[in-house]
Amino acid sequence: MKKLAVLGSTGSIGQNTLEVVRQNPDKYSVFALAAYSKVEIIFKQCIEFNPSFVVLIKPEAANELAQMLTLANCTTQVLVGSSELDQLVAVSEVDVVVAAIVGGAGLSSTLAAARAGKTILLANKEALVMSGQIFIDEVKQNHAKLLPVDSEHNAIFQSLPLDYQTDYLHREITEFGVHSIVLTGSGGPFLNTPLAELSGKTPAQACKHPNWSMGQKISVDSATMMNKGLELIEACWLFGVKPDFVEVLIHPQSVIHSMVRYIDGSIMAQLGAPDMKTPIAHCLGFPRRINSGSEHFDFVQAGKFEFQAPDFERFPNLKLAQTAFYSGQEMTTVLNAANEVHVDAFLKGKISFTQISEYNQNIMEKLQPAKASDLDSIFAIDEEARATAQAGVRL
Ligand code: NAD
Ligand code: MG
Repeated sequence: MKKLAVLGSTGSIGQNTLEVVRQNPDKYSVFALAAYSKVEIIFKQCIEFNPSFVVLIKPEAANELAQMLTLANCTTQVLVGSSELDQLVAVSEVDVVVAAIVGGAGLSSTLAAARAGKTILLANKEALVMSGQIFIDEVKQNHAKLLPVDSEHNAIFQSLPLDYQTDYLHREITEFGVHSIVLTGSGGPFLNTPLAELSGKTPAQACKHPNWSMGQKISVDSATMMNKGLELIEACWLFGVKPDFVEVLIHPQSVIHSMVRYIDGSIMAQLGAPDMKTPIAHCLGFPRRINSGSEHFDFVQAGKFEFQAPDFERFPNLKLAQTAFYSGQEMTTVLNAANEVHVDAFLKGKISFTQISEYNQNIMEKLQPAKASDLDSIFAIDEEARATAQAGVRL
């Protein structure tokens, strides 16, 4: 029985993780849950999974939850705040940490899990985007295990040989005959929208992803392809390569979740229905397979698979991500922070869809962050970029 800490349990990945746990009650138990504030959802999760601890970041929500749990005779203990969360992930009872808090807010607890040498199921991209070098170094030094939940990275991982998978952070991918990585992306809801119409697209339209059902922030990132840009950075850190080793390919059906090309011309791919329960189950069971509860994919029903190269005019964020990676983790932190502010401003109707990437570029051109070798310096860069972006959005 493995004991899980599910961070971001009220979110899309968190809820999918609990669904996989529901399919495998003999293999996994929930030791801790954590989220920002959604009391109703997390209350139900506590009643169903009976974790020892639950952490909420918002104090009023934590108070309300504690009262509800007492009334329901549930023994789950409620903790408050992110430093409590960082301590909790490190306790010896936790075997597996599911890092599924959205955005930069997830960084500290994910790093705490790495320092404690845990098995980390990584959904939170920001740990790699903001602090790739620091995070990978901590994972290696503390003999933590890192398994990629993000569907593309999970697909790449699954398409690599087992002897690489079991020690991948310490090995060169090219030693295994790998020629390159093919990172696929759907192109989002605006793949075929005339360019002139993009600036008028609303948050509701941007969040309506053709294949995946996800949180709002990542849905907008899919529409601008910033998500693919962040994933490119993520892939580079995970597999120890540079952006020129990764070919970004648009595949609107989202069935091929990514691929690996080998030097002999072979291509290995991982396919399946677009359902995050599959990569989550893969990581939970690794190296074995477990039931995910996902529907099996029907090739005949699906019909065609299409492919096209990404167009940087339509998706300038993708280019920004490449440029930022070559500049270093400081610039990827700037880009990520600026993008979080701009996506939020777009969702609140303060800026237009096309201004997200325009403003991201402005911030990258404006800031020249100093070299960062620790988390505090990364957070300082993150804060400066956010403040600069926020000042711009208010204008
Ligand atoms: P979501 O918005 O649905 O859920 C976010 C979760 O984080 C919620 O539980 C929320 O309570 C929690 N949270 C927010 N702010 C917090 C804070 N300050 N402290 C603690 N908890 C906080 O997001 P999601 O779609 O589940 O995505 C989670 C992460 O996984 C993101 O980094 C995303 O990029 C990544 N991811 C998601 C998908 C997907 O299909 N949803 C796929 C790949 C990667
Ligand atoms: Mg993804």
